[in-house]
Amino acid sequence: MGIGTYEQFVERLANMKPNVYMYGKKHDRTGDYMRGGLYCMQQTFDCAHDPKYEDVCTATSHLTGEKINRFTHIHHSVDDLLKKQLMTKLLSHRVGGCIQRCMGTDAMNAISVVAYDCDQANGTSYYPRFEKLLRYWQDLDIVGCCAQTDVKGIRGVRPIDQPDPDQYLRIVDVQPDGIIVRGAKVCNSAAPYTDEIVALPTRFMGPKEAAYAVAFSLPSDWDGIKLMALPGLRHKRKHLQSPDACVGDVESLTIFDDVFVPNERVFMNGLEHPDVVQYAGYLALMFAHFHRHSYCGCKTAVSEVIASQAALVADVNGITKYPHVQEKISHIIGTAELVFAAGQMSAYRATEFPNGSFVPDEILTNAGRRIAGNEIYHEYEVLADLTGGICASLPTEESFYDPETADLMAKYITRNPKYTAEEAHRVFRMMENKLCDPFSGAQMVAGVHGGGSPVMETITMMARYDLEPLKGIARYLAGIDPEMPRYERPNATPRAMLDKFKKTVAEGDKKVCN
Ligand SMILES: Cc1cc2nc3c(=O)[nH]c(=O)nc-3n(C[C@H](O)[C@H](O)[C@H](O)COP(=O)(O)OP(=O)(O)OC[C@H]3O[C@@H](n4cnc5c(N)ncnc54)[C@H](O)[C@@H]3O)c2cc1C
Repeated sequence: MGIGTYEQFVERLANMKPNVYMYGKKHDRTGDYMRGGLYCMQQTFDCAHDPKYEDVCTATSHLTGEKINRFTHIHHSVDDLLKKQLMTKLLSHRVGGCIQRCMGTDAMNAISVVAYDCDQANGTSYYPRFEKLLRYWQDLDIVGCCAQTDVKGIRGVRPIDQPDPDQYLRIVDVQPDGIIVRGAKVCNSAAPYTDEIVALPTRFMGPKEAAYAVAFSLPSDWDGIKLMALPGLRHKRKHLQSPDACVGDVESLTIFDDVFVPNERVFMNGLEHPDVVQYAGYLALMFAHFHRHSYCGCKTAVSEVIASQAALVADVNGITKYPHVQEKISHIIGTAELVFAAGQMSAYRATEFPNGSFVPDEILTNAGRRIAGNEIYHEYEVLADLTGGICASLPTEESFYDPETADLMAKYITRNPKYTAEEAHRVFRMMENKLCDPFSGAQMVAGVHGGGSPVMETITMMARYDLEPLKGIARYLAGIDPEMPRYERPNATPRAMLDKFKKTVAEGDKKVCN
């Protein structure tokens, strides 16, 4: 099949066992609470069938040579990475923010690289298992999410030293045909409306933490998985329908309550071979890296959506010409351009890996993601500033349609005569959504933490950026060295960390090995 339809996807969800917990009840996957998230997922199917968008939303499978949805593709060229970024941006424009399907794609791309490397070094057989699952994903156009972020207990305390050992997902039993896992992953976006949950480690694991080096993929309604959900909803509309009003999401704290994972779905098991444990951190970083590359597409779109809304609301208010307005909008546009450029350039500087995957440059993806994360609240601030207080005090929709008050409301909502009363109302209603409803509140936090808290990008960049050759420029300028070095930063990928993890373990670093 290769490219599925939204209707097939919804049917699969409807056939799943109820395991979504909300408001004191267990829910199936047919409820209204999923409406906003499903709207986003629908775009990922419909656009793959749309001739206008198929150039970026579809790809050619390296396994079968067939046309598939790009969300199930493993990037095999610079062009693939560029198109993934364009697809993410395009679809994020359509939903005014996060498209919600990239986490599963990024997780599969990360496993592809790491499973292959691990098999080559350790004689394990994760990659053939992975390819089998990938075929199934590509055939049926499977939607996945990624459960990486462990609940983590006391921050700064290693998994093995936590008073409760279940604060990080771990293997509690190994059986001939599979493993039993226990733990919980937080902020698991979209989990209730995905076919599969891909679970990955969240950090480097030491030799005593072999049980925590675990990765697998399971159907989202698998026995023992409990999705403790929080729907992100827009304010309900009665009269003014719009694409912006259709979106929403559902977050999940996903509990793995002694869950059996069959061997064919296990892509890392630290108890299988002593050296596999070193691949946990490598896989964690590889996912974060692919995800930060996706962010360079979606965060560009997020900034462009905000810039677009800022420009429109400024016009409705009749303030476009003022220099402070121009300066504020230009700042957001500048951010979007830089983040996009970082993603593009990281694709051009990609490295081909032994499994055939193309892995973008890591300094650039982190630089792009960090700018986006640092700017996000400022961008919302500009939007609130240019909109005015009406976004937080807009009378209810009904007042604009009540025969007694409709004319008065039309009179008092109108500002720039270029816009009708209904157009002005639509724009301010959109701003109310954007700045004040529960879904947008969560999206603002996602802009800060999604893909890793801001400090994580700094840590990653400084771990990978070699300052010694860089200092050569200053040494020359200061007259310490007579020769001006010809400085070019080499490409960077998470592969460098695998060697460091191996060295850490080989040297018996006290922090992780005692
Ligand atoms: C809306 C949303 C959607 C998300 N979607 C997903 C998803 O689909 N899948 C997924 O796996 N994750 C997802 N995430 C999770 C995201 O990756 C995490 O929120 C992020 O990595 C931060 O982890 P945390 O929330 O546990 O915060 P913490 O790690 O607790 O961070 C809180 C603060 O503590 C600091 N801190 C923590 N530990 C240390 C330490 N050892 N030393 C110094 N400072 C420390 C951090 O820097 C930060 O300032 C999502 C997050 C959000 C908000």
